[in-house]
Amino acid sequence: MSSEHAKGSDVNVQVKQPARGSAKRPEKKWRAGVLGATGIVGQRLVKLLGEHPWFELTEVAASERSFGKCYADAVRWHLDAPIPAAAGALVVKGLEPNLACDFVFSALDSSVAGPAEEEFARAGYPVVSNSNNHRMDPDVPLLIPEVNAAHLDAIPLQQKNRGYEGGFIVTNPNCSTAGLVLVLKPLADTFGLEKIFVVTLQAVSGAGYPGVASMDIHGNVVPFISGEEEKMESEPQKLLGKWDGARFVDAGLGISAHCNRVPVLDGHLECVSLSLKKIASLHEVREALKNFEVDEELASLPSAVRHPVVVLDEPDRPQPRRDVNADEGMAAVVGRVRECPLLDVKLTLLSHNLVRGAAGAALLNAELLAARGFLKHRTTASKSQLPQSVSR
Ligand code: NAP
Repeated sequence: MSSEHAKGSDVNVQVKQPARGSAKRPEKKWRAGVLGATGIVGQRLVKLLGEHPWFELTEVAASERSFGKCYADAVRWHLDAPIPAAAGALVVKGLEPNLACDFVFSALDSSVAGPAEEEFARAGYPVVSNSNNHRMDPDVPLLIPEVNAAHLDAIPLQQKNRGYEGGFIVTNPNCSTAGLVLVLKPLADTFGLEKIFVVTLQAVSGAGYPGVASMDIHGNVVPFISGEEEKMESEPQKLLGKWDGARFVDAGLGISAHCNRVPVLDGHLECVSLSLKKIASLHEVREALKNFEVDEELASLPSAVRHPVVVLDEPDRPQPRRDVNADEGMAAVVGRVRECPLLDVKLTLLSHNLVRGAAGAALLNAELLAARGFLKHRTTASKSQLPQSVSR
């Protein structure tokens, strides 16, 4: 590791992103359902679908508490923007897999998501899930399009293994893993990665609603989030690993995570130290992060960002309140890239747990599935039409 430092040498590199979604509008929108539409993540999906050029929200589903009510009455809406009018009028359904839609997003509580998602996939629905239940299944893609789009090639085997005709399950990672892996990807590609040590400061919205009791979190830090460290230590192995045509091969990284809940509304901050396989200067590390650029296929998706990692040079950034909405919440924001006396490099990163870590991630996954021909209009397409596998 050389001792090149950032001091005064870099300009602020907040990347000016080009307009999003240059891909053509489809002739006919795909109809989307949202399972768990009343929850914190479900609401984000409902909002994002209200203005989506490719997808139209036609169904919302949740628990018995909400069943039969119109969505506007069932939901405790947390967003500043109003409920999209068309969504507010939808009647909330249960988890019967007979919804009038071409595919479903799942933002269900993990206590019910596992079997519900399988039932929808068995009934022929593509399921784009936020929940953790199937993330590590050996035939289910755990997907970040900018990182491992080729993992979609596992879908035909999943269908064969499980006897699904037309349906399948694709998942997005845990909210703190999503930002971390987006930042690790260009470093893994450019220098190779060996070890990662990460300490998180995670927002309360990551716990759903009502989440952590106010008396536990106000003026406090809770140094435990059930199951979170295990997810952060296992999911990057699958995401940064390979699909070899029959199974997912782990990336073989050493990862240690400490996860903390802090009194911040949205945005997970992560302090990361890492060791690289190749020797690199700090300048080279920063350049690799800044220059991380997605290909034309991904850049044309409506929710994609051409440069999904933004590097800031100010010594006191990123900060949740100031930086969480970078690129409408789809970018990971990195700052404080510096030498690590124990490993090679250390840095601080921030990502929006409900957008890049949940609803926005699921939407981007669905857009990639649509672009690659995995979504069908269910009334007209035969159940088992799927594209040939294409490794990219
Ligand atoms: P949440 O606010 O607690 O919402 C849970 C949703 O599940 C609600 O719509 C709820 O419906 C529904 N639900 C609960 N029990 C049900 C049942 N028995 N039958 C049918 N529906 C039921 O949770 P969230 O934070 O949105 O998280 C949703 C999923 O995304 C979880 O699996 C979570 O782990 C994952 N995730 C969350 C984040 C995040 O930052 N929050 C990030 C990534 C992934 P009712 O309103 O009718 O009860």
